[in-house]
Amino acid sequence: MNEAGKDKQAASVTRRGLMLVLSSPSGAGKTTLSRRLLQDDRDIDLSISVTTRKPRPGEIDGHDYRFVDAAKFAAMVKNDELLEYAEVFGNRYGTPREPVMASLKTGRDILFDIDWQGTQQLNEKAREDVASIFVLPPSIVELERRLRMRAQDDEDVIRKRMEKVGEELSHWAEYDYVILNDALDRAFAQVRTVLTAERLKRHRQPWISSFVRGLNK
Ligand code: ADP
Ligand code: 5GP
Repeated sequence: MNEAGKDKQAASVTRRGLMLVLSSPSGAGKTTLSRRLLQDDRDIDLSISVTTRKPRPGEIDGHDYRFVDAAKFAAMVKNDELLEYAEVFGNRYGTPREPVMASLKTGRDILFDIDWQGTQQLNEKAREDVASIFVLPPSIVELERRLRMRAQDDEDVIRKRMEKVGEELSHWAEYDYVILNDALDRAFAQVRTVLTAERLKRHRQPWISSFVRGLNK
């Protein structure tokens, strides 16, 4: 192992993980991009949200979401178990606090697929730890096509989601980065680029100062 590697190993416990947030109007592709990132990168974990929404076909409890009823969700809010929470399309969604804190403490990064309300709450609580990306669809027509192609929501749900597109889009400027998800490979490469650059931020490499001191000896 080289000197930088040794310093990195010695200081690895003190590196705080970063919180990478992906938001977009429903159907723009953030779940697709998230899943790909999780497959591609072993140093980032997904924050698994709790929701009162019913599972879609193929969704697995504990993998995609923790599916809970309204009473359980309310109890989690009351007991301050959620780092952030919001109502989206008539259902409640929230981020369990404990797994996030555990990952951050051990220096692992965490990926969040949450809406603009949750992103605002994370920014208020931990701005230094957050890097946020807003994913844009190439057009509204394509967004609707993707929602239909996903074929997991009924017509009423798709209509409700399309009605909210304008409101969701209006929050794009609150994000650190904006990525157009036209060609998936290119959008994914851009997500990777953001993550790489955010990991290189000085305050996320606490071992660097001792390494540089060594260089100066
Ligand atoms: P979101 O999580 O933002 O609601 P999804 O990731 O579920 O969106 O994507 C919605 C649908 O669009 C899925 O069927 C997905 O396979 C498809 N999709 C995602 N990105 C692209 C892309 N760049 N080009 C074409 N289809 C895409
Ligand atoms: P879906 O029902 O399509 O899985 O998600 C609907 C919306 O809820 C998406 O915009 C998604 O990012 C958001 N969402 C999912 N989990 C959370 C969460 O824990 N908190 C917040 N604030 N939004 C969430």
